[in-house]
Amino acid sequence: MSDSKPITGLILAGGQGRRMGGVDKGLQIFRGKRLVDHVYERLAPQVGGIIINANQNHDAYKSFGVRVISDAIGNFAGPLAGLHAGLSVSRRPYLASVPCDSPFLPEDLVERLMARLNESGAELAVAKTGDQPHPVFCLARRSVLDHLTNFLKGGGRKIDAWYASLDVVEVDFDDEAGAFSNINTREELANLEDVTTEEGTTEVGTTLETGARAATVAAGAAAAVERLSPPPGDAPARASWSASPARAIAGDALERILSCIDDYDPNALKVTSAREVIRSFLAPVATNEKVAVRAALGRVLGEDIISTLDVPAHDNSAMDGYALRHADLKTAGDTELRLAGSAFAGRQFAGKLGKRECVRIMTGAVMPKGADTVVIQEIVQTEGDNIRVPAGQKKGQNRRLAGEDLAAGKPVLMAGQPVGPAELGLIASLGLAEVTVRRRLRVAFFSTGDELASVGSALKQGEVYDSNRYTLYGMLSRLGCDIIDMGVVRDDPASLERALKAAAADADAIITSGGVSVGEADFIRELLGKLGEVVFWKIAMKPGRPMAFGKIAHAGNEAHFFGLPGNPVAVMVTFYQFVREALLVLSGRTDDCTLPLLQVPCTSSIKKSPGRTEFQRGLLARGERGRWSVCATGAQGSGVLRSMAEANCFIVLEHERGSVKPGDLVQVQLFHGLV
Ligand code: AMP
Ligand code: MG
Repeated sequence: MSDSKPITGLILAGGQGRRMGGVDKGLQIFRGKRLVDHVYERLAPQVGGIIINANQNHDAYKSFGVRVISDAIGNFAGPLAGLHAGLSVSRRPYLASVPCDSPFLPEDLVERLMARLNESGAELAVAKTGDQPHPVFCLARRSVLDHLTNFLKGGGRKIDAWYASLDVVEVDFDDEAGAFSNINTREELANLEDVTTEEGTTEVGTTLETGARAATVAAGAAAAVERLSPPPGDAPARASWSASPARAIAGDALERILSCIDDYDPNALKVTSAREVIRSFLAPVATNEKVAVRAALGRVLGEDIISTLDVPAHDNSAMDGYALRHADLKTAGDTELRLAGSAFAGRQFAGKLGKRECVRIMTGAVMPKGADTVVIQEIVQTEGDNIRVPAGQKKGQNRRLAGEDLAAGKPVLMAGQPVGPAELGLIASLGLAEVTVRRRLRVAFFSTGDELASVGSALKQGEVYDSNRYTLYGMLSRLGCDIIDMGVVRDDPASLERALKAAAADADAIITSGGVSVGEADFIRELLGKLGEVVFWKIAMKPGRPMAFGKIAHAGNEAHFFGLPGNPVAVMVTFYQFVREALLVLSGRTDDCTLPLLQVPCTSSIKKSPGRTEFQRGLLARGERGRWSVCATGAQGSGVLRSMAEANCFIVLEHERGSVKPGDLVQVQLFHGLV
């Protein structure tokens, strides 16, 4: 893939695989690889980045380390829904789509579609062989998104019907006719396995014997089903789970993601690389629920909201003044008009304006019939039932048009958006009493350590109070998660295993603190290895060096796992730098959840060596001339939680950066918004 290519490739894998025994087509094995692997390999060199549209088995598709997205309008609603999902999240100006079951797609597909698209100026280019268009092999300008959204809102689902309403150019690929064959049944798949010429090139379309070959492939498909099923049962099943093919899939996914990271070194992992791995491995919740409008505050929208009304419903006045017919006004000098009545908000003028008539009108009142312009009261002279209006008024001024805020049929808010106060108001302005939102993310957390005492008990020799569970409680509550506080778990294998299994069976994400530093890691590493796949990192950062990440499974459920360090500041820093954004994405957010970094002068001198990212606690304040600057708070040890309470921002010192002198510009990340 080349970043410079302004094209996103979209692999459409959103079907149910009904004719493939319920296994996604893309995951069927063909010539030793999954169909989607073939497609990916052919498409990747042609585009700048790839997105996969799938409505199930996201983990399997995430093996490429690319974004995997579901349809936003009901699941399994066909290729248009997939195209819509792809266009909605892609940021590049062009989108090239191909189906996941086209292992022979042309190597010059995108280049040829692009040439014709630009030559013709059309909105979309589609491949064709003979008289047969291949509608899912297309290249669209991103600007068709609105058109497609409206088409889908109107109930349209057929790709041909949509094309018929667009400016589409068809591009001949007669020289590569076989390249477009897709695979609909296991028999077709089996046939194709065999059709190879002596040079090893492929000829498509010839049907050979099925029989034994089909049986082998069907067996392969059945194995794929097994691999994608969650593991059953409890303790005795765990042994088979750790060795089972199901684990191989999850493991593969993480391993493959790691293999895509430049210079991956678990013992000196860059902050940016750790973020990249985490982001690639997330499988967001997709279940929705309906809640009353107010209860949607802080939640994530589960469906697009389409306006059913024009808001405002009528043309109305933006000012207090006089509504009139612009054509009555003289171009020079005052015009005298007769006052025919009045219009107030909620009480409109019943008649129609005649020639040289006007109506006294208040802000928000419906424009009287015949009137097109409002003149503010301050510049009008009244004389009994007449008014004098000066020249120079613009036609249509001070008038709000119906539908100016929201137009009927247009999308107002999109699935994946967070609901804040403005969104609540917008939803209410459409008269909706209920909203569909994603279910809340369930997050289980516990502290580990033999030295931990619970608040309320007397502290014995060598003990410390468990503070991490309180910071975690605060941070998770602010993110709007359903939280499961599992208390303190002692550093003993049986207790830890029990706690991890209980959490994995019930939660979407598990967060632990402590127990991942060098002295303790071996023991928990072995345990986590049995329950799923977790990698242990030493991250090139301060504070927060040791961290574990992955997924564990139990009793048919899989949970993302974040093993945070034990030191109280390190817990907060790693949570904000890695876990916060991951949990937002897991909750279904599709907007960019990263927090902005602001640049300000630093008044402290800070010692730092290049080669790690540091998160100093800082205080951003206004100086004498009203200019903002930041200083580091006192002691910066990773156990000094007071440094977090005294600070209002992180001073983020980048990986390559050396020491900071007073006056140097530094980047800060405000706690406000973060917490
Ligand atoms: P660990 O990562 O388990 O080796 O812990 C590192 C340091 O953090 C030790 O000094 C622990 O006592 C401390 N620590 C671990 N967990 C907690 C906790 N829940 N609350 C406060 N301090 C903790
Ligand atoms: Mg410990």
